[in-house]
Amino acid sequence: MCKACDEHRFAFETLDEQSMAAAARAAHDAGEAWHFHVLAPGCTFSPDRQAYAFLLELTDQDRVICSFFDEKPVAVNKELLALLHGADALLDKAMAAGDIANADRALLDGIAAAISSGKPWHHHMMFPACQLNQSGGRWRIFVEVEGEEPIWRDYDGEPSLVLNRIERLYFGLS
Ligand SMILES: [Zn+2]
Ligand SMILES: [Zn+2]
Repeated sequence: MCKACDEHRFAFETLDEQSMAAAARAAHDAGEAWHFHVLAPGCTFSPDRQAYAFLLELTDQDRVICSFFDEKPVAVNKELLALLHGADALLDKAMAAGDIANADRALLDGIAAAISSGKPWHHHMMFPACQLNQSGGRWRIFVEVEGEEPIWRDYDGEPSLVLNRIERLYFGLS
């Protein structure tokens, strides 16, 4: 376990990239629940503010694994994203139909303001079982804009529509 664990909300094991990716593939092959986050150095949740952290959550094994990188870990991100969501996950960002709630509009407006002022931003989609999620069993979308307090919203069900809009902004499609 990492010495930093006491300072963070989750405990984790540190593995190298190959061992971490192998653990993800094994969980996937076994049909277990798993997901991951790529945490940039400035992210609130990053255990190491100097490095990129690849955080693999093996929910059914009750394990959290971290691998650290000096550069953004693009290749393993793409590989495991395809395993988790299907090969088209990065392409399938068509505009979803539906009405956005007023509170979600405020979230989207906050992101749009960050984009127009050129501030770096990113978001986290947190499943109910996610170790980063402090909502007590709900879905959470958490948005970080550099230099500002984080903003988030909690949902009883999967917030697919607002996530779709945020991802379109993130990938420069809207
Ligand atoms: Zn973050
Ligand atoms: Zn998570």
